[in-house]
Amino acid sequence: MEVEKLVNKTIKIAIASGKGGTGKTLIATSMFYAIQENFKNSVLVDCDAEEPNSVLFFKANLQRSVEVVQKVPVIDTDKCTFCGKCHDYCAYNAIFIIPPSRIIKVIEELCHGCGACSVACEYDAITEKDMEVGRVNVFVSNEGFNIIEARMKNGVMTPVPVIKAAHKYTVDKQVVIMDSPPGTSCPFIQTVVEADYVILVTEPTPFGLSDLKQSVNTLKTMNKNYGVIINRAGLGDKKIFDYLKSEDIDLLAEIPFDKEIAVLYSNGNIVAAHNDKIKILFANLFESILERYGNSSN
Ligand code: SF4
Ligand code: SF4
Repeated sequence: MEVEKLVNKTIKIAIASGKGGTGKTLIATSMFYAIQENFKNSVLVDCDAEEPNSVLFFKANLQRSVEVVQKVPVIDTDKCTFCGKCHDYCAYNAIFIIPPSRIIKVIEELCHGCGACSVACEYDAITEKDMEVGRVNVFVSNEGFNIIEARMKNGVMTPVPVIKAAHKYTVDKQVVIMDSPPGTSCPFIQTVVEADYVILVTEPTPFGLSDLKQSVNTLKTMNKNYGVIINRAGLGDKKIFDYLKSEDIDLLAEIPFDKEIAVLYSNGNIVAAHNDKIKILFANLFESILERYGNSSN
């Protein structure tokens, strides 16, 4: 493909899977590595904020670490009448109240910062304070690769605020590759909502197929473009291939079950940096996705 035709196109690609351990990070790091020659204005965003690990593969240096805060309520017990309305409005059970004993407490770890309790209170008893929920860490590797990490604080209920904050650091990039959190709940949705295209990674097993179906159903409701990479191809059965065919879903690539790949990855290596076939596969796959789903920047 002529790369010159693609220089004015931008794209955000999320690499996702319905469950952990399918090889999503292997594919995100390898694709990001493979495109560096032609797309230097790119960034890898690790949105798997509960346990981000992409940066370990690049041995990159931390340039900046920014605190992410969320508003949590503070209740003035002198003004509070213990009416219980804030407790009723809280969908996350984050307000504990025993009116007869005049006890009320915000359980900050459960609070999602939605502000509903402040709206509910008619006695001006609720103000808000900032609570740290995580950090966005900005790294640059010795080769000049840009990596952003969303990292939630231990004990916080949801990584959504740090994922949201991490997206803000990608605005000037031509290419954004996102390593999505596993599953199909809010953190996944907060990641893929930004994507122009989603690569779903799965494996040819009954569990892989079941999780893939859930991911596909979620992406359909979000109206997203997507395709599938089958990792550890050669293991398991053919049902996943039958499903892709019956649903007319693009099979983007098959990564074979291969000892060399497994050893490289488990030793903390970027597979594409050591395996030319994988590097070429991902460079070509990326360019075809960019050509088809990229946005024109002028
Ligand atoms: S801000 Fe929302 S989640 Fe937090 S305590 Fe108030 S109602 Fe509950
Ligand atoms: S709504 Fe206001 S007054 Fe009522 S219990 Fe909550 S904080 Fe107290």
